[in-house]
Amino acid sequence: MGESSRTILYLGTGNLHKVSEFERLAPPSVTILPSPSPPVEETGLSFFANALIKARNAALSFPGPPGEIVFADDSGLVVPAIGGEPGVRSARYAGPEASDLENREALQRRMKGIPQESRKASFVCVLVAVRSGSGALVAAASGRVEGRIANGPMGEGGFGYDPLFLPEGYYVTFGLMAPEEKNRISHRARAFQGLLSLLVAA
Ligand code: IMP
Repeated sequence: MGESSRTILYLGTGNLHKVSEFERLAPPSVTILPSPSPPVEETGLSFFANALIKARNAALSFPGPPGEIVFADDSGLVVPAIGGEPGVRSARYAGPEASDLENREALQRRMKGIPQESRKASFVCVLVAVRSGSGALVAAASGRVEGRIANGPMGEGGFGYDPLFLPEGYYVTFGLMAPEEKNRISHRARAFQGLLSLLVAA
């Protein structure tokens, strides 16, 4: 990607919340452009496997020239007290077409009665970058933020499980934080920093 050049990174996702988070996270020298991402089954058993499936899916249907960098995000919430759920099934925890609200409610039901000391959780994000056309793997990076699951939802900002996630050292959920505040500490911010440093070195 070269240190002084301007760079375009194509993001293969249908999730507009993710697009807006990456746009805010990108430094001025990097432009994030959404890239078409036809529906694909996330059959992988890990965040990495699913991020690779999504990145290759977008890279193979990329409308521009071959060789561009297309990346995808697979992310989710991991709660050790319930065996790592929702994990790679975070987006469809309450069913294949579940809304964010339905997924949060499913998690709250599953965690009913679990005491404070066992409500630890982490958000995990894995990013995989590949070349358009070939789908050849270029780089991968991961990021994690530790926290715990609140007793009830707080705030309406962000998306997904944000209103239920209290990052370690904070008394407010991601759902109550301004986007810039979440972006300072989030799993996605950490993974993106890692990915950019690999791409700059390439
Ligand atoms: P994916 O699009 O298959 O990677 O699914 C990610 C799912 O994990 C989302 O639908 C959310 O439910 C959850 N998730 C991932 N990152 C976040 C986040 O930053 N905030 C809240 N929920 C998230």
